[in-house]
Amino acid sequence: MSRRDDLAARLAALRDRVASACSAAGRDPAGVSVVVVTKTFPASDVRLLVDLGVRDIGENRDQEAVAKAAACAELDITWHFVGQLQTNKAGSVAHYASVVHSVDRARLVDALDRGAVSAGRRIRCLIQVSLDEVPGAGRRGGAPPGEVHALAERVVAAGSLGLAGVMAVAPLDRDAAAAYAQLADIAAEVRTRHPTANWISAGMTGDLEVAIAHGATHLRVGTAILGTRPDAV
Ligand SMILES: *Cc1c(COP(=O)(O)O)cnc(C)c1O
Repeated sequence: MSRRDDLAARLAALRDRVASACSAAGRDPAGVSVVVVTKTFPASDVRLLVDLGVRDIGENRDQEAVAKAAACAELDITWHFVGQLQTNKAGSVAHYASVVHSVDRARLVDALDRGAVSAGRRIRCLIQVSLDEVPGAGRRGGAPPGEVHALAERVVAAGSLGLAGVMAVAPLDRDAAAAYAQLADIAAEVRTRHPTANWISAGMTGDLEVAIAHGATHLRVGTAILGTRPDAV
């Protein structure tokens, strides 16, 4: 099988999986988008995915993302930055990313806003929430739930950023369903103040059904579509 056929088959299988999970949860599949996370895979895979109709591509390391975005510059791609982001990389990320899922501290909001101004674009931001039972236990990034409101306000106040919603990675020390239920509550609180910030970025290859059951609007899926990462971290 060619790589193209392989990706096409995996995309179709994923669509079926999402459709079943939506029907089990009583949700319309149109309300669930997939961001294909291509980290560690080459730009040639991004090209094949775009050819197969994918528009939303996610990356988690700036250096790798810069190179891929440059290699695919003429394609119609919305780049999503989904990984932990150092403040000193925010300016670089602002040059290709339309959406940053991992906004988790005030200094990063300020740095992304400056980057967006210098890049001449608007960036949609999601506040990444840490759902660890023991704060910091999972080291998966994210702001403590108690800081989400202040960060959301800071994004809204920034001239070149827009607040899209919230994001989380399921913690290692806790049941994913309980964590995603908490994320749904936090998302609802954010929406009462910012009605258009209605994204919930949650769910990866291993837990997307659980995330869909708890209201995820944007899944971030790598392995199910591209295969096992050679240097999986
Ligand atoms: C790699 C990654 C994903 C995709 O994970 P898979 O298990 O391969 O689907 C999702 N979110 C983030 C933040 C990631 O770094």
